[in-house]
Amino acid sequence: MADLGQPQNTIAILKKYDFTFQKKFGQNFLIDTHVLEKIVDAADIGKDDLVLEIGPGIGTVTQYLCEAARQVIAVEIDRQLIKILKDTLSAYDNVEVINEDILKVDIAALVEEKNSGKPIKVVSNLPYYITTPIIMTLLEKRVPVTDMTLMMQEEVARRMQAVPGNKDYGALSLAVQYYSVPYIAAFVPPNCFMPRPNVGSAVVNLKCHEKPPVEVNDDELMFKLIKASFAQRRKTLQNGLTNSAELDFTKDEVTEAILKMQETLGMKQNPLIRGETLTLKEFACLSDILS
Ligand code: SAM
Repeated sequence: MADLGQPQNTIAILKKYDFTFQKKFGQNFLIDTHVLEKIVDAADIGKDDLVLEIGPGIGTVTQYLCEAARQVIAVEIDRQLIKILKDTLSAYDNVEVINEDILKVDIAALVEEKNSGKPIKVVSNLPYYITTPIIMTLLEKRVPVTDMTLMMQEEVARRMQAVPGNKDYGALSLAVQYYSVPYIAAFVPPNCFMPRPNVGSAVVNLKCHEKPPVEVNDDELMFKLIKASFAQRRKTLQNGLTNSAELDFTKDEVTEAILKMQETLGMKQNPLIRGETLTLKEFACLSDILS
């Protein structure tokens, strides 16, 4: 089958099937072989791997995955693409296409059924509207996944990788870094897609931790503290945590906890710090003191 990473081959398939792009499904198909190679390299796929692809489109990334992996499961929501995929993936007997909304798929059950519960890899040129929900679902539910290699908006990629003191640092950075190590493998300009998106994209590899890098008694409370701290970025941590509707601490309790956290971690005593300066370890310590 012709390499769909070559724009003329993608155009020929779209014409052959009289395909109409569905904006609501975030359809931006890749048309650049270098980017496809970068994705497969970043995913580090071997012949033992089972790969879950979210949103195969016309099968462009899928073809590359089929060459590299033992088996590929591709979940595509758009029914009009299923017959196209039958055609473009006809050369491969190691791929299964499922016509379903990935947000409705029980991925843990799928891993159990297709890979006897052994960890899989996830690869996707993500439809941007589900980037955060799908990543957070996979991470929080601790679905057996070794790593995910995902194309996403550049701005979201930068937020995932950001560290304290960086303007992109926020609740998403901490949530992603609690479960994985994010690494931006490539920046991808709009002209690598058809149609072109309005913003730049990036390929991110998230290597999932077997165990989180910090220990915390109640990670739900820690994430509530994180959310409250960044909801009011300009406020002090003290005010952010006292004014949150989801938390029920007095200003004195919060102040005392901040000072205790700083003492425990050998930091300078300052009750007026901002949440955006705190590391994951500091949030974990604060959470343990408040819990
Ligand atoms: N993988 C193809 C490529 O790189 O050329 C297509 C990528 S395109 C950005 C996103 C794909 O995800 C589209 O094919 C779209 O129909 C599909 N999609 C959108 N929402 C989905 C969902 N909830 N579940 C499964 N697939 C979805």
